[in-house]
Amino acid sequence: MRLILLGPPGAGKGTQASGIIKKYDIPHISTGDIFRKNIKEGTDLGKKAKEYMDKGLLVPDELVVAIVKDRLTEDDCKKGFLLDGFPRTVAQADALDKELSNLGHSLDNVINIDVPKEALIERAVGRRICKDCGATFHTKFNPPKKEGVCDVCGGDLYQRDDDTAETVTKRIEVYQEQTRPLIDYYNKKGIVLDIDGAQDIEKVFEDIVNRLESDA
Ligand SMILES: [Zn+2]
Repeated sequence: MRLILLGPPGAGKGTQASGIIKKYDIPHISTGDIFRKNIKEGTDLGKKAKEYMDKGLLVPDELVVAIVKDRLTEDDCKKGFLLDGFPRTVAQADALDKELSNLGHSLDNVINIDVPKEALIERAVGRRICKDCGATFHTKFNPPKKEGVCDVCGGDLYQRDDDTAETVTKRIEVYQEQTRPLIDYYNKKGIVLDIDGAQDIEKVFEDIVNRLESDA
């Protein structure tokens, strides 16, 4: 099963990714993770990527594509993979298609977790984190027993600076602007599965599995 996972920040992609890779026994390929690994191991690609990152620059498409290509030829990708954070542009999507077809494969599906902007803002703005143990709560969906106090360790709860309606709105708009062309690209291929991510975590996962299996 060769999959791409898309969804705005705060849509619960991480949780769904863990469920999917476990169920289908495929590796979770996050570009962030591969970059960190290549840099840590000091590979040529890692060194090149680090030069850009140290300067605060975006790593160019061709380098990102080279690093992902490299990862896709590893043994554990024979059964498939779940790509997360890649592709980000239509040029990268095109390069991925070419690489897969060189390997005699193609993408099966693009899982697009969709959550309305208002719901994402509500999730972020109510989030509270424990200063001491890092436990997370939500003023509405998962409130601590005593306001402002961690249930686990009694520490003080705080709100992250970037969990405001303004920053979240900005984050989502940037994401949508960036992702729209990609979704169009994959819609033309007829492989996008739109998933309602505003539901309970378990229901979202159930929908993903049902859609993957009825589409297969
Ligand atoms: Zn705590």
